[in-house]
Amino acid sequence: MLCSKGRKRQKLDELLYLHDDSGVKKEFCFGNWQSLGLTLYLCPGQLLNPHPNEFYCKPPMLLKELSTYKTGGTCDQLIEPHSAEELADAMAQVQRNQTSYFLLGAGSNSLIMDDHWPGAVISFSNMNHIRIEQTRVFAEAGLDNSQFAEACYEASLAGAGWMYYMPGQLGATVRMNARCYGGEISGIVDAVTVVTENGEIKTYSGKEVFFGYKDTLFMSKPEIVAMVEFNLAKGDQEQIRQLMDSCKTDREAKHQFLYPSCGCVFKNNYDVGIPSGLLLEHAKVRQFSVGPVEVSPYHANFVFNKGATAIQILDVTLQMREVVYRKYGVWLEYEMEVLGLIPDDLKKRFQEERPQNFKQADLALLRNTLD
Ligand SMILES: Cc1cc2nc3c(=O)[nH]c(=O)nc-3n(C[C@H](O)[C@H](O)[C@H](O)COP(=O)(O)OP(=O)(O)OC[C@H]3O[C@@H](n4cnc5c(N)ncnc54)[C@H](O)[C@@H]3O)c2cc1C
Repeated sequence: MLCSKGRKRQKLDELLYLHDDSGVKKEFCFGNWQSLGLTLYLCPGQLLNPHPNEFYCKPPMLLKELSTYKTGGTCDQLIEPHSAEELADAMAQVQRNQTSYFLLGAGSNSLIMDDHWPGAVISFSNMNHIRIEQTRVFAEAGLDNSQFAEACYEASLAGAGWMYYMPGQLGATVRMNARCYGGEISGIVDAVTVVTENGEIKTYSGKEVFFGYKDTLFMSKPEIVAMVEFNLAKGDQEQIRQLMDSCKTDREAKHQFLYPSCGCVFKNNYDVGIPSGLLLEHAKVRQFSVGPVEVSPYHANFVFNKGATAIQILDVTLQMREVVYRKYGVWLEYEMEVLGLIPDDLKKRFQEERPQNFKQADLALLRNTLD
């Protein structure tokens, strides 16, 4: 079990010894979890759990409390390591136990399903340290984008101002190759330290990780971003602050934070040459707003959660994709990630791929409105 890492075992305040059916003594620990260097959650009923090795549980905590989009039910285990090494230990354990898991940053690009997740959720909320040495910056995966931008500003380092007020954590921001206001995370990352599913730690150069628009190694390889290294240029603090403030002001003016959302639900398709938001707008997707799910009145690619279930939100986005395909022949690709258990019928619809069948005349009409 994770808490029985030899070198840390002696630090435990208390140990409860249990015996399994074969008489083998097993340790089950409780007490000072922090001394393990891991944040562990244990529900009291689990002290006599027949599976004492599986202990990271904090019911009735809801994942929606950890997610910007405010959806998500309970899970068996919430694992919150404090470092890449602890993350590696945790992954080795998860792998040994064949536990299903998913990764959760700030949940600002993810729709977490509401049904109980019978597995682990890896959270990076305790991996949020940053170290700056001259122009080199080393930041852990759980650091908030705005805090990262703020720290770079304090050190008079340019290049990260555009990340201010973009929700999310660095690890997921690398995974998504997030971008806005002329910046893209691929443009400033030097190296990425990852933890593999088997618990190995390795480092890639930025070039090995980023493949292009919203496309990275981590979309095809189940490796976990643990630490990100940057080499930034010295800049003028006033100019950096101006950029940061303008990003914040613009997002607020566009009412992006009016209700919980995951930002843009769909990626842009650069072959079409029209932003997905505009396609959605002209396909009149606001008709699908129902009760607590609202397509933003300000940006048709944003879907607000006004107290909806994850299924209600997913269903609305599926209808949005459908109507754009019918009107323009463009099959939009989801940017929003869905985490957790999706009912089979919805999963099939969510994963459906259709050939692009661009209706050029209609698209040309729309393109003209852009000029
Ligand atoms: C109001 C609003 C505005 C937004 N504007 C923009 C924008 O302008 N540009 C833009 O690009 N995005 C935007 N987004 C989306 C979001 O900000 C980014 O995608 C952000 O990088 C997601 O970070 P997160 O920690 O919330 O990710 P999460 O939603 O927690 O995770 C996203 C994905 O990454 C995986 N993941 C999480 N942590 C790790 C890790 N350490 N290693 C590997 N995989 C991991 C998750 O499993 C999931 O698949 C916006 C979102 C909102 C709510």
